Amino acid sequence: MNLIDFSTINNYIGGQWLAPSNGKYFDNINPATGQVIGQIASSDEADVQLAVAAAQAAFPMWSVTSAEDRFTILNRIATLIDENLEALAMAECIDNGKPLWLCKKVDIPRASSNFRFFATGIMHFSAESHCMEDKAINYTVRQPIGVVGCISPWNLPLYLFTWKIAPALAAGNCVIAKPSEVTPATAFLLTRICAEAGLPAGVLNILHGNGTDCGAAIVAHKDIKAISFTGSTRAGEHIAKTAAPMFKKLSLELGGKNPAIVFADCDWEKMIRTVVQSSFSNQGQICLCGSRVLVQDTIYEKFKLEFIERVKKLTVGNPLVETSKQGAVVSEMHFEKILNCIAIAKEEGGKILLGGNAVQLDGENKNGFFVAPTIIENLGPNCRTNMEEIFGPVVTLQSFSTEEEALALANASEYGLAATIWTQDISLANRMALKIKCGIIWINCWLLRDLRTPFGGMQNSGVGREGGWDALKFFTETKNVCIEI
Ligand code: NAD
Repeated sequence: MNLIDFSTINNYIGGQWLAPSNGKYFDNINPATGQVIGQIASSDEADVQLAVAAAQAAFPMWSVTSAEDRFTILNRIATLIDENLEALAMAECIDNGKPLWLCKKVDIPRASSNFRFFATGIMHFSAESHCMEDKAINYTVRQPIGVVGCISPWNLPLYLFTWKIAPALAAGNCVIAKPSEVTPATAFLLTRICAEAGLPAGVLNILHGNGTDCGAAIVAHKDIKAISFTGSTRAGEHIAKTAAPMFKKLSLELGGKNPAIVFADCDWEKMIRTVVQSSFSNQGQICLCGSRVLVQDTIYEKFKLEFIERVKKLTVGNPLVETSKQGAVVSEMHFEKILNCIAIAKEEGGKILLGGNAVQLDGENKNGFFVAPTIIENLGPNCRTNMEEIFGPVVTLQSFSTEEEALALANASEYGLAATIWTQDISLANRMALKIKCGIIWINCWLLRDLRTPFGGMQNSGVGREGGWDALKFFTETKNVCIEI
């Protein structure tokens, strides 16, 4: 199996690798070098039509395949991902700019876990029955929906792509999936793995292209009955406008502006180590990163000094080199956006404590898109810097004195994805957890994930929950059958 060559990224439709109907391609760029590394199909509505026809043809067979057979195939995909970890990690690193060690440690292992988790999950999936004493028995069934659409972003390419398609396939649906046009490589390589694992033709169809031509055509297609989307709040809004009047099932995992709340009584060493990670992992390009660090006033100065010292040690460098803690940001466009956000922060009166600039590397990385980890203070909760998602290696520090103030700052956002609370006072932590308007709360930890738990945000961070039974319920239609006794 060739998992090295992704120089021409074509669609995978009905078990075949096809050029886009319009013959158009665009450049794939390695953000760590600025070099063109290949061509990506620029698909549109015509390709979506072909994919839907292939999926519809496969559905009658796949939807009645036994759970055990689906388990076997999805588990085989997981094993093949594990066996090809090195090649997939290299592709992810080159395509995305994130450090190779991170791809090996997090991105690719999580992709195989996603398949293994939902392969096993479908073997245990069951539905309820409700007995009306001596009158009747109701039983509930959860059946595959049909053809469903999965659209994913660039920050955790294979990780988030498989987080959607694995439950969709496990539940017996046929899938039209589109990875981000910025990072399509590993989704393309996954097609070779799926074919080798024996996934029948047409069950999974992967299209490449941008959001406006390809993504929007998936959302608008009348025969695609559910859309699972992860990406920006702006695109989520467009998708909802198209899909809602067609009564499609919708799962929207959108942006965030997450608070990391540090109380004076926290476990200092664990807190400071983890807040460095929760601020800058993956160059701050994780929807769960804490970009607003809120620190109790009695420890604010101490926190600031030690935080700066530790962040200084996050070496920005060639993502292929083991010692680089920070790689490139994902694209030139995103690089410009982050630098523009830093300029806005300065205009708003923000004081740059560290970073605030692009990093120019040497040699093959001299044209890459690198940004120094940036810490900003002196900004209030209502400025653009603290309201808008930057999605890069940029955090702000704000101080608070009381629990009420911490809560008000934490909730001073239209987003509501994740929050982290650092304190040894478990009652305080629980009071905060119940009042913070976020779908995910971590107390004295960050990014500790159990795949069974409901995952998702509230407010502008989205609608619906992924993970565990929530995902399998989303990808099935629920039907109640009532039998009079
Ligand atoms: P994006 O919204 O630009 O694109 C995401 C995907 O949607 C891509 O595949 C894109 O081609 C497609 N798309 C764009 N516009 C579309 C449209 N109108 N119709 C259909 N498809 C469309 O997001 P991005 O820049 O790739 O990713 C970064 C964003 O994703 C950030 O806002 C981040 O917070 C968010 N994100 C959220 C989560 C979460 O779980 N809540 C996880 C990761 C990333």
